[in-house]
Amino acid sequence: MKIRELRLTAFGPFTGVNIDLSRGREGLHVVYGPNEAGKSSALRALRNLFYGIPLRSPDGFLYPYEKMRVGAVIQRNNGEVLEFVRRKGRTNTLRAADDKAVLAEELARFLLCEHPVGDTAACRQCTSCTLFAAGNNPDYFRVTPAADSRVIKIDQVRELAAGLSMTSHGNGRKVVILTPADALNINAANSLLKTLEEPTDNTVLVLVSAHPARLPATIRSRCQQIHVQATDRQQISRWFADRHPGASSGVYLALANGAPLQALQLAQENALEERGRRFRVLLGIREGREDPLAVAADWAADEDLKGLRWMREWLMDLLRIRLTGHTEGIHGIDLLDSLSTLAPQLDTRIVFRQMDGINRMLRLADSSLNRQLMMEDILLAWSERVS
Ligand SMILES: [Zn+2]
Repeated sequence: MKIRELRLTAFGPFTGVNIDLSRGREGLHVVYGPNEAGKSSALRALRNLFYGIPLRSPDGFLYPYEKMRVGAVIQRNNGEVLEFVRRKGRTNTLRAADDKAVLAEELARFLLCEHPVGDTAACRQCTSCTLFAAGNNPDYFRVTPAADSRVIKIDQVRELAAGLSMTSHGNGRKVVILTPADALNINAANSLLKTLEEPTDNTVLVLVSAHPARLPATIRSRCQQIHVQATDRQQISRWFADRHPGASSGVYLALANGAPLQALQLAQENALEERGRRFRVLLGIREGREDPLAVAADWAADEDLKGLRWMREWLMDLLRIRLTGHTEGIHGIDLLDSLSTLAPQLDTRIVFRQMDGINRMLRLADSSLNRQLMMEDILLAWSERVS
């Protein structure tokens, strides 16, 4: 596999930067630039592209979580060229062609899973899930236009029909995703009709389309239509307000990036009060009222390092305010005024370095390294006022 182009669409300090890696016979590229030019960010982007953007990424300071994007054009060994985009999030974050296709793929994974979890989730561990993740599940058929074409051709549908006539290898099911289904040309659509009318046993066909009206009526009439909508924020707000009435419900939802269950947990822990207290302690350190070493001992003793995790969020918010000049999209809306006051006083290079330190500590938090020493380093650096 070769990466032809790396697209830093909205990631770390980058906005819409495309790095062309297609030229040169050897495919070896040297990326160089001065300090702070974004070399490490670009490297992290590459890692995140393939393995996912971590939930609390250090590169989310300019763009809010849900807007982070990194993409690439890759060429597989068989010559096939793929274009894809990774967005931030816990699951289903790889956006092939478009978003609906990802949902369909999750459905396929679930239907083929040998030990599904509950009513909706694949286990991601069984043989079927493992094969699926590697792109080799023999019971999964994905039909899309070939790289040099905009349409799905009849040969592809015939090949599909032949594949479906074979016995299932896994739990008995076979799943087909046709995407975008409106790319079926007329011959291919007619050929598909036969499969839709007389499907093989235990076969699920999913036709994905942003323009279902473009599909022939003969096909549409044989499909059950499921309209996919974006998550309804108002619905989430109502659900949350029912369980946690009061003025702070919006704040808790913002803290949890709109995730309702996480917001509820924060509310049950009365997190706002504790956040406020910890933030005042950090301000106290900068103003010489609190002893950084005593705070380090206290915070390092905290099992899940909550103070440190919050501090990282605040640093990211501070960077975002500092770099964009506004508070839109910041995470800590419970501390909006304090963060806005503090942001102009900070040296961004020092903040970046501190975030590196915090990330390192959180990565090593489970190992036997001395938490308190690392915590002291971070808070001592924080206590040094730089104007
Ligand atoms: Zn499974």
